[in-house]
This record gives sequence, C-alpha cells and structure tokens, in this order.
Amino acid sequence: GEALAVSARVAPLGSRLVLLLVEDLTEARRIEAVRRDFVANVSHELKTPTGALSLLSEAVMDASDDPEAVTRFAGRMQIEATRLTNLVQELIDLSRVQNDDPLEDSEPVSVDELVAEAIDRSRHTATTKQITMASGGSAGLHVWGSRGQLAAALGNLVENAVNYSPAHTRVGIAARKVAAPGGDLIEIAVTDQGIGIPDKDKERVFERFYRVDPARSRATGGTGLGLAIVKHVAASHGGEVTVWSTEGQGSTFTLRLPEAGSARDRRPASPTPD
Ligand code: ADP
Repeated sequence: GEALAVSARVAPLGSRLVLLLVEDLTEARRIEAVRRDFVANVSHELKTPTGALSLLSEAVMDASDDPEAVTRFAGRMQIEATRLTNLVQELIDLSRVQNDDPLEDSEPVSVDELVAEAIDRSRHTATTKQITMASGGSAGLHVWGSRGQLAAALGNLVENAVNYSPAHTRVGIAARKVAAPGGDLIEIAVTDQGIGIPDKDKERVFERFYRVDPARSRATGGTGLGLAIVKHVAASHGGEVTVWSTEGQGSTFTLRLPEAGSARDRRPASPTPD
C-alpha cells in the first residue's frame, strides 16, 4: 500500500525531471546549432575574399606584360583586402560586445558626443553621395553605459542609413528623453529615405550575417554583423533597438537606452545569449 503511494508521488516528479532534462537538451542542442551555423557562416564569409585574392594574384602574374590589366586587378585586390579587414574588425567588435561586461566601464556618456562621432564616421560616404545629415535634440542628454560600445552601436545605425540610401537624400538623427515606469529612457532615432526593409525581413536583419540583399550589402562593404552588434549592445545596456520601415520609402532604427542617473542605469538586464 505504502510503496504504491510513494511511487504514485514519485512518478509525476520523475516525469517532470525527464521533461526538464529534455528541455535542457533541446536548449543545449539549439545553442550548439547556432554556434555551428555561426562558424559555418564565418568560414564562408572568409572564403569569399580570400578566394578572390588568390585568383586575382594569379591573374596579376599572368598579366605581367599588360600594365593596364595589372592596375585593374590590383584595384580589385584592394577591394577584397578591405572587405577582409572589415569582416575581421566586425568579428572582433562582436566578440568584444558579447564578452565584455558593459557595467565594468560604464559611465554617463554624452549623447551629443555619440551623435557627432557617428556623423563623423559616415561623413565621407555621405559627402560622396551628397546625403545631408542632420541631428537634433541631443543637447544635454546622457546615457549610461560603455562609451566604446555605444559609439559602435550608433555608428553602425548611421552608417547603414547612409549606405542603404540613394544620393541626394537626408539622414536624420533625433534624440529625446522619454519617461518610462522603470526609469527615464533616452531614445535616439536614425531615419533615412532609403530602400527600406520588406516586412518579412524586419525581425531577421538583427541576426548575424543576415542581409536582405547580399550583393548590395557586399557592394557597400557590409559584413552582415552590424545590426547584431547594435542589438547586443542595446540588450546588455538594459535597452532595445527597434525598426520601423516602409519598403522603397525609408527606415527608422530607434535605440532606447537608460538615461544616466535614472533609476535603471545601474541595473542593466543580463545580456541575451544570442
Ligand atoms: P550589413 O553589413 O550588411 O549592412 P547589418 O547587420 O548592418 O549588415 O544589416 C543587415 C541588413 O539589414 C543589411 O544587409 C540590409 O539588407 C538591411 N539594412 C540595415 N539597415 C538598413 C537601412 N537603414 N535601410 C535598409 N536596409 C537596411
């Protein structure tokens, strides 16, 4: 009688344990799959420029009696080398934001300075394409976090806005303070009049190596890692990044970050694993 009662009590517990174990394994398998995909993607992304470089160097040797062809191939080699450099740099940046605890070097960071730095970083491309950059609202605002990580995040958003916009358009950066229940937030919105993002891709653009149009991304020197870095920085700072876009008309990427000195600035959420 008693044995039966005990086993009746233990059995559901046992099945719950099994269920937990299965859930754990599923999660472990998912993480393992994400890691394997990432390594496969990195390998693929590295093979493209290194393969091109090796073919081009052969072409240069074969064309040694044709100086014009040598110059042309050398130019293409330079483009591939730059692509490789960008990719390695972004991989380093991604690994840094994933491994560094932003709390360790957090401080009040001037939004004015972040915006000015982001504009500076894209000035060359913007000037070439005659894109006007305008900013407003950032005076006197401060966010809480790692200066380097926040500069990388906003810099990426402005760089994308300029890269995915046609000539003679406008990129706007608007900052404002927003009251929120857990403490005030600073909202920084980057708006462009560019190609926009189709609805079906809006969530996926934040994934590592996801691009709406891979050819276009490569042509602008894109690595497909920029928005993954932005998303990670936003989350590890206790904020978020969202996108609003109409295909063919433009996009707005909005970063929301804890205001320095607000109730939430010292307790950012723990970084998400992905
Ligand atoms: P990439 O290096 O390709 O720019 P990102 O991670 O920064 O990588 O962006 C991922 C993809 O999202 C881009 O390839 C592009 O298709 C799309 N995207 C990002 N920003 C914009 C934007 N402002 N306008 C249109 N498309 C964008």
